[in-house]
Amino acid sequence: MAAIAAVDRGDRVTLLEKNDRLGRKILISGNGRCNLMNTDSDLAHFHDADTGFARRALEAFTVEDTLAFFHDLGIDTRVEKRGRVFPASNQATSLVRLLEDRAQRTGVRIVYSADASDLVKSEGYSVTTADGQTFDADRVIMTTGGTSAPSIGGSDDGIRLVCALGHRSTSFYPGLVPLETERSTLHKLQGVRAMVSAEALVDGKVVKQDEWEILFRYYGLSGLIILNLSEAVAPFTEGGNVSIRINFFPGMDADTLEEKLRGRWNRHPHRSAAFSFTGLLPDKIPPVLLPLLNIPSDRPAAGITQEDGRRIAEGLTAWDVRVLDTRPFAEAEVMVGGIVTDDIDPRSLESRISPGLYLAGEMLNVHADLGGFNFQWAWSSGWIAGQGA
Ligand SMILES: Cc1cc2nc3c(=O)[nH]c(=O)nc-3n(C[C@H](O)[C@H](O)[C@H](O)COP(=O)(O)OP(=O)(O)OC[C@H]3O[C@@H](n4cnc5c(N)ncnc54)[C@H](O)[C@@H]3O)c2cc1C
Repeated sequence: MAAIAAVDRGDRVTLLEKNDRLGRKILISGNGRCNLMNTDSDLAHFHDADTGFARRALEAFTVEDTLAFFHDLGIDTRVEKRGRVFPASNQATSLVRLLEDRAQRTGVRIVYSADASDLVKSEGYSVTTADGQTFDADRVIMTTGGTSAPSIGGSDDGIRLVCALGHRSTSFYPGLVPLETERSTLHKLQGVRAMVSAEALVDGKVVKQDEWEILFRYYGLSGLIILNLSEAVAPFTEGGNVSIRINFFPGMDADTLEEKLRGRWNRHPHRSAAFSFTGLLPDKIPPVLLPLLNIPSDRPAAGITQEDGRRIAEGLTAWDVRVLDTRPFAEAEVMVGGIVTDDIDPRSLESRISPGLYLAGEMLNVHADLGGFNFQWAWSSGWIAGQGA
């Protein structure tokens, strides 16, 4: 995107790509379908350490601009739940092929397998690749991404190169990633999916909440809701007191659920405690959770006391799971953290430390919620850096 924006302004542009093809993260995104953006332009979906840094680029190259760009490129789009935008072809390859076509047609010189390993500032800039080629330029745009998905090239290469010129980086953590939780019999739910609402807590304080699908895994929690919540707790798992509070009955509090369950138990007193949830929850959940609440699964509904009923309703609307860690970068969609944005001009994305150097995308300390927002940041910031350079 940055190369296309720069060449559109009439510059001569050379794009160095470490891999033997472009856009490998685009290719694997959205399970190969690429959730390329979101129709929701609320800035609250973007996390920039509360600096407000991302706003300028997002307001300068908006959701509407992005849609117009991709429609002009030839990508018809389809909007799915929660405003998530996908190519009508349902193929991430469409995006990469058309972006590459646009870049080449407009004169961007693309050098594949060019692993930039050194960046030197003199009059302009010299970039040297691992195989010894040197490229000189008046201006350089760095869009080397983050450390997620290392098997397809995710690395901190660019971060190290710009730090060598005086930039600073925060620590970084896997984000939009499954979570490892305290060992409990919840691992017996491995493979079970359910629609839940959940809160992410750090030191007992709710830092994010959502309602979406959860997936139980042998190591802990996954699914869209957990990936989305994970970015808010990732920096705090080490030594911190992080937990996920699950409500298996989204939209209901303990009182409402208790009343609902009592109605069912009164109507069908012969059913076992576990069976009484049939039609309400996936079948595998009650036999695992009820014993953890000291309710035998086979206790007849008629034998569920007032106190039991309260405990069940409270437990199932606020099930606390202690988080021990995130899963590794290999399973993460984004990097939380990156180059400190105080040193970058938010209007042009030019470095304040090294004039003529521009930075965009995930390598900066900006990440976003699940749902196409991370690509939106990549498109908007890439476009602004390309225009700025
Ligand atoms: C499995 C997965 C699924 C995802 N799904 C989605 C999704 O559906 N929607 C969404 O919004 N986001 C998604 N993301 C996140 C999204 O892919 C990233 O936020 C986005 O690609 C970041 O764009 P970028 O241009 O900053 O970095 P990247 O896309 O990582 O691009 C960086 C480029 O720089 C190249 N490079 C790196 N180092 C060097 C070097 N030293 N020399 C030369 N070239 C180099 C890389 O090879 C790469 O081509 C997903 C990520 C993953 C891992």
